[in-house]
Amino acid sequence: MLNDIQKAAKLLIQARHAIAFTGAGISVESGIPPFRGEKGIWNKYDPQFLEIHYFFSHPQKSWEVILEIFYTHFEQSKPNPAHLILAELEKRGIIKALITQNIDNLHQEAGSQKVIEFHGNSKKIICVNCGKTFTTEVLNHSGFPWCPECKGLLKPDFVFFGEQIPAQALTDSFAHAKQADVVLVIGSTGEVFPAAQVPIEVHRNKGKVIEVNPGTSNFTYQITDIFLKGKAGEIMPILFDEINAQMDLT
Ligand code: NAD
Repeated sequence: MLNDIQKAAKLLIQARHAIAFTGAGISVESGIPPFRGEKGIWNKYDPQFLEIHYFFSHPQKSWEVILEIFYTHFEQSKPNPAHLILAELEKRGIIKALITQNIDNLHQEAGSQKVIEFHGNSKKIICVNCGKTFTTEVLNHSGFPWCPECKGLLKPDFVFFGEQIPAQALTDSFAHAKQADVVLVIGSTGEVFPAAQVPIEVHRNKGKVIEVNPGTSNFTYQITDIFLKGKAGEIMPILFDEINAQMDLT
């Protein structure tokens, strides 16, 4: 009898179109806390600072909190083994696309190429007036920054509460979800929609759902076929070793 790791490895190797779907949990071992849960960001900060209407009416206050959360603390974070293994699985053709809810750029830094950013990217800063984009070097870390080109208000290029999901990311994500026969879900509560609809769509199309999470999520009892309980940085190396072992046998 195969154990769950062996079954998950087999599903991934045999998949025609496997995709990965990641949430804040995959970056916890890189030192970035999730929003929810005991050590979550919302225990320290009010989510209103990330509401789009609040941002436009109180940009100074919003930027102070945004700088503290996303740029002062997390700027030095590095990809962990789970990010690196996903990049390697893509290189080997096992993972066809990676849809992430994260805005931390760690998948790209790990080497993943086919990353669909459902909620944008904090490493890109956009001027809401002229539309020019900048790297984080434009931030001066003392209050809110102005566009060097037109003096318009700058905004991190991630999706605030109350904002639309970028149209291309939405289209691409659901196109992959439609084709996928396996989705590897890592570190997501499944509470944030429409992102959570991606694995649900795979399940609806009769694809298999493999979930990696130290706790249960909204997916676990609803759509998950194989639940690999544990931290991403611990489970993914075990899964990767098993994939290698099974591939050596074939
Ligand atoms: P979440 O914060 O709602 O949930 C995190 C999930 O990760 C939980 O299910 C938790 O059990 C799990 N988890 C905790 N530690 C883990 C570990 N070591 N390995 C694997 N899983 C672990 O996250 P969410 O569902 O992704 O939704 C929050 C939204 O907030 C996201 O859509 C994202 O846009 C944003 N966010 C992004 C970052 C980031 O870019 N790193 C961080 C916080 C929030």
